[in-house]
Amino acid sequence: MIVAMHGQATEENIQQVIERMVELGFNVHRTTGAAQTILAGVGTPEHFEVAEFKVLAGVYDAYRISSPYKLAGRSFRPEGTTVTFPNGVIVGGREVVVMAGPCSVESREQILTSAKQVSAAGAKFLRGGAFKPRSSPYSFQGMGLDGLKLLREVSDETGLLVITEVMEISQIELMLPYIDCFQVGARNMQNFNLLRELGHVRKPVLMKRGIAATIEEVLLSAEYILSGGNYNLMLCERGIRTYETYTRNTMDISAIPVLKKLTHLPVLGDPSHGVGIRDLVPPMALASVAAGADGLLMEMHPNPDKAMSDGAQSLYPEQLQKLMTQLQQLAPVVGRTIG
Ligand code: PEP
Ligand code: MN
Repeated sequence: MIVAMHGQATEENIQQVIERMVELGFNVHRTTGAAQTILAGVGTPEHFEVAEFKVLAGVYDAYRISSPYKLAGRSFRPEGTTVTFPNGVIVGGREVVVMAGPCSVESREQILTSAKQVSAAGAKFLRGGAFKPRSSPYSFQGMGLDGLKLLREVSDETGLLVITEVMEISQIELMLPYIDCFQVGARNMQNFNLLRELGHVRKPVLMKRGIAATIEEVLLSAEYILSGGNYNLMLCERGIRTYETYTRNTMDISAIPVLKKLTHLPVLGDPSHGVGIRDLVPPMALASVAAGADGLLMEMHPNPDKAMSDGAQSLYPEQLQKLMTQLQQLAPVVGRTIG
């Protein structure tokens, strides 16, 4: 149930409503916006009447929400969520935020060169996996803690933020000092124990869509993180598996406006994993922004032909540079800014 309070409701009115909701068995999440206070009741009490709340003092409206993702649903925060990072970068506002870098951290030289190129192109985040979920156990598994340290070092040097993938609960504490944003990979979108733990940290999380996940499943997974109290959450469309084999995955551009409609969370596009072929990445990046994406997560490597993972879908540095120029031209057309 959602209870929207009047703009003029007093604190006493609000407390009275909260008390009644708690009495009925709801877990209450309160959002105090500039215009009004929203109370979201999570839980399924056996008996309650929405009508009872509609007539309480200070209540503007109350309604049942039938969708199973109460905290992720748009109605919880109709104005939309913004995620603010330490250096003032905001995801979910007017600016389309670009996150770029190699698939994996491979060496100091590789990640430092990447950071310089990513920063020169105007991106705000450096991406790069230190822990890699590879389809084969014999493929490069990532540099681990050494990779995290390198990410932090070169990002500080170039003024970038760090986003990197967390694969299991035991890595969370280890990662906290080195990163600005946790990335939950497609393969872990339904690792519910991991999601629950990420609900208990206050560091932002970007959660990717699973390779065969429906939009409702994406939102239910988001609910695991939100219900722990971590609202610094962003979603990311990264392609799904279909019968098409020409591209690595099928980039579901339509998921972007659908998610923007259903949830208040920022939505990003990852065209690199979306298509898996570097020359198709720029058009899909432009399409993502045209469709309403709040940001892009893309792979770029100083020397993609020598990359230890995902070289075929990694942009050459000049391609990223050129794409950023095109994005700058497109952004105002859809009411956004970039870089
Ligand atoms: C990645 O970003 O390198 C990655 C492994 O992505 P995904 O989880 O979308 O496959
Ligand atoms: Mn990759």
